[in-house]
Amino acid sequence: MDWITKRAELSGEKTAIIDIFYNRKLSYKQLDIQVNRWANIFRAYQIKKGDRVAVIAPNQAELFEIMFACGKIGAIFVPLNWRLSEEELKYILADSSPSLIVFNERYDDRVKTLAIDTIPLLSISNPPNVEITNWKWDDHKEEEPWLIIYTGGTTGLPKGVVLSYRAVTWNAINTVVSWGLTEDEITLNYMPMFHSGGINALSIPILFNGGTVVIGDQFNPVEALKNLNRYQCTIALFVPTMYHMMQQTEEFEKLDFPSMKAFVSGGAPCPFSIYDKFAAKGLPFREGYGLTEAGPNNFYISPKEAMEKRGSVGKPMMFNDVKIVDEQGKEILNNGVGELLIRGKHLFTKYWNKDQTTAETLKNGWLHTGDFAKRDEEGYFYIVGRKKDVIITGGENVYPLEIEQWLLQHEAIDEVAVVGIPDEKWGERIVAFVSLKGTDLSENELKDYCEKKLAKFKVPKAFVSVDQLPKTPVGKIDKKALMDVLSEQTE
Ligand code: ATP
Repeated sequence: MDWITKRAELSGEKTAIIDIFYNRKLSYKQLDIQVNRWANIFRAYQIKKGDRVAVIAPNQAELFEIMFACGKIGAIFVPLNWRLSEEELKYILADSSPSLIVFNERYDDRVKTLAIDTIPLLSISNPPNVEITNWKWDDHKEEEPWLIIYTGGTTGLPKGVVLSYRAVTWNAINTVVSWGLTEDEITLNYMPMFHSGGINALSIPILFNGGTVVIGDQFNPVEALKNLNRYQCTIALFVPTMYHMMQQTEEFEKLDFPSMKAFVSGGAPCPFSIYDKFAAKGLPFREGYGLTEAGPNNFYISPKEAMEKRGSVGKPMMFNDVKIVDEQGKEILNNGVGELLIRGKHLFTKYWNKDQTTAETLKNGWLHTGDFAKRDEEGYFYIVGRKKDVIITGGENVYPLEIEQWLLQHEAIDEVAVVGIPDEKWGERIVAFVSLKGTDLSENELKDYCEKKLAKFKVPKAFVSVDQLPKTPVGKIDKKALMDVLSEQTE
């Protein structure tokens, strides 16, 4: 089903997209015309079904136009993260072997250094003139791939997550139904549109349902807060780091957000201090859990429940199954910690060119998320940490998140990351990286503070003070980079 054309028929003059930076406003009808235009341009470049179209661009309306145009002709949309190193981008281009690279002139230099003379380049603002004929999209099979999204690579080399029409559409249906989205929804999207957070989490479900997506380009906390009011937004997704920055501003204190029905946090664990500041203002806040391979959306919790059950991501959505299992694959019920498994029509097809990793991750229809979770007696789920982040010290399993949440409740601590480093005696030794708000805190004071709440074996053996913690392009704390620093220091 060609749902963008269908939307144009149903919602015609309604505003689909507002692009703040490039000052564009597109109704659904205008969006469909642009989608057809890009489909014709791609045909002029001899792009066929199954070919990859890579795009290097900031958040801008054309990314949606191009994504839907790929849908029209059966090409695969590959949005690239312009913040990656030259080496990483070269890796992704070699892996995805696109037939065309569309780029925003802002990244002219980046594109040139990639020096891929075999792949044609197309400037986003200067495509050839083509006659616009209407493309129908109705001959696709549900299982055909539509997107390849490369994951952040916090766990190693980027992996291309292949999402079919089935997966994208069912994530949209599931989100609309389970989150109760209406056609009056207006979202503000500063999440990078080369990740599922910027594409599939809210933008595509809202476009699918006839709402409006306001696209923000470079995140600035003050502008973001003002734009929520300026565009009368009803729902928005940000990662915790962005909320942290927004809550430091005067605007957060001063402004009310009367149109907002939900501030959603996702992508990484959310510090309780962020909940507190929303609670103090009586604003509707909730946490979501997602990953590129599954939707990304999987759970729902109302803002009211979220305040009562801090840290919970809620209950599984309508069209997905979720379970927690132990190492033998046996289901764990109340309050036991185990790996979170997900099944549903929103799941990815495979990792591009990585059959082995696909087979290890997707077993009998269940996605093994690599995240540890638990469920309470009332059926609410909590993400406890990543499997690979679990620290085994003296034979005990320690979840860094528990220590991080406690440290973040200290008023002098701004940000924190807890990691395990190899240790002859303990197997792993717990080290906490902290960035302080200004006041000095000695290592002993930090230890004493931890001992007040945490079991002795969970108290970090060392505290490293840093000005700022390294972040991935999406704004998650980059533990891999921290570990690299540590291993360089000990070499
Ligand atoms: P990679 O998979 O290569 O490590 P990535 O972490 O950037 O990259 P994404 O799909 O963008 O991949 O992120 C998904 C991960 O983010 C989840 O597996 C989980 O670890 C984490 N995450 C998302 N939401 C939450 C949340 N609410 N609480 C805790 N962790 C979360």
